[in-house]
Amino acid sequence: MHPDELPTRSDVAIIGGGVVGSSVAYFVKQLSPGASVCVIEPDPTYEFASTLRASGGCRVQFSCPENIDMSLFSIQFIRDFSRDMSLPDRPAEVDWVEGGYLFIVPPEHTKSLEANVRLQLARGCEVELLTPAELRKHFPSINVDDLGGGAYTPRDGWCDPNGLLWGFRKKAQSLDVAYIKDRVVGADVTPSHVRSLRLEGGTRLAASHVVNAAGAWAGEIASLLGMDLPISPLRRFEHYFTAGSPIERLPYVKDLARLAFRSEGVGFSGGLVDGDAKRGFNFEVDHDDFERRVWPAVAHRFPPFEAARCHRTWSGLYEQCELDGNPVIGRWNGRLTNLYTVAGFSGHGMMHAPAAGRAIAELITYGKYATIDLTRLGYERVEANAPYREAGIL
Ligand SMILES: Cc1cc2nc3c(=O)[nH]c(=O)nc-3n(C[C@H](O)[C@H](O)[C@H](O)COP(=O)(O)OP(=O)(O)OC[C@H]3O[C@@H](n4cnc5c(N)ncnc54)[C@H](O)[C@@H]3O)c2cc1C
Repeated sequence: MHPDELPTRSDVAIIGGGVVGSSVAYFVKQLSPGASVCVIEPDPTYEFASTLRASGGCRVQFSCPENIDMSLFSIQFIRDFSRDMSLPDRPAEVDWVEGGYLFIVPPEHTKSLEANVRLQLARGCEVELLTPAELRKHFPSINVDDLGGGAYTPRDGWCDPNGLLWGFRKKAQSLDVAYIKDRVVGADVTPSHVRSLRLEGGTRLAASHVVNAAGAWAGEIASLLGMDLPISPLRRFEHYFTAGSPIERLPYVKDLARLAFRSEGVGFSGGLVDGDAKRGFNFEVDHDDFERRVWPAVAHRFPPFEAARCHRTWSGLYEQCELDGNPVIGRWNGRLTNLYTVAGFSGHGMMHAPAAGRAIAELITYGKYATIDLTRLGYERVEANAPYREAGIL
């Protein structure tokens, strides 16, 4: 867009053009085609954005009904993505792989796993509880000595986060959403509204609705607006590795220690989340992380990984919600009533981007949720210091 054409007023201004902000933009145009929408995104290469560093996993295995319902909608949306989001001159490919998810737990946690599975079944998910013997039957290499069981969701899988982001962005642009290459550095607020956003390039952008979709930067954006949002950047490493010995193809495997990995091509992709890692915008790679933390865990669980070799490591940021690991989604009803937050997914923002984007579009268009009721994920729980925790493995 030529600088002279930059809008100075928009019905909806979205801060952050990653997968979440771009999904919001797309769904607002679906529900309110006449609305003017712009997305402020400083970096069209997305060098540090979490979206491009994600491993693409999509699963229904959660314990909060809101998360399960968001997954059910989002996974179907991702399955149909190519059909619904392609443009005449640009196919929207997300390379969906229905590889399944496997959660495994020690004996003392089987009861809570069973409770989660009951809830998932009741909400329409395909999920199978597996005893240790059944785990061995499905996955012959697995060591079940210290396991009480597992839950397997064969219809879960993974996709290409880059394809998802660009599919949303290109489709939104085809619907006249303006992407402004600039950075939000301030705001003009009244006691009850955000009037305008100040951009680094000097523009003052007036907006009727403002959406904070800045991922790991959402806490900083909130501070500019006078809101205390407990979302911080949490560094997480992802490794690409090969087994070294023959092993069957694996689903996305997760355990209570937060080991998370899956098959990728001829190898595997994954890591071990360190929830205690120092918060901050740190992208430095610890090249010993695989050897020190991940390898012992994967080799213990699947002995063919004894001879595993790590080929590549990269780092990225979780936008960690320090209150409870669940996202903050909704309007700031207590003060700036035209400010919406959609951030803090703490490791599952890519998979929930379609449902969360649609939810914010509903709030903007109808003033309330029309499909999935996400009230319990609102900012009110932060104000009340009342965590709403996810008991599924994060
Ligand atoms: C290693 C790793 C693996 C992951 N694996 C998965 C997975 O398997 N499944 C899953 O669902 N999720 C996964 N995630 C989490 C997922 O990546 C995030 O939840 C998701 O990408 C968040 O999307 P977003 O659009 O909110 O954030 P981002 O993609 O980070 O986008 C935020 C944007 O805000 C912009 N911004 C920053 N400051 C400003 C400003 N001042 N003004 C305007 N814009 C600004 C940034 O440039 C950025 O592009 C993983 C994350 C990591 C790091």
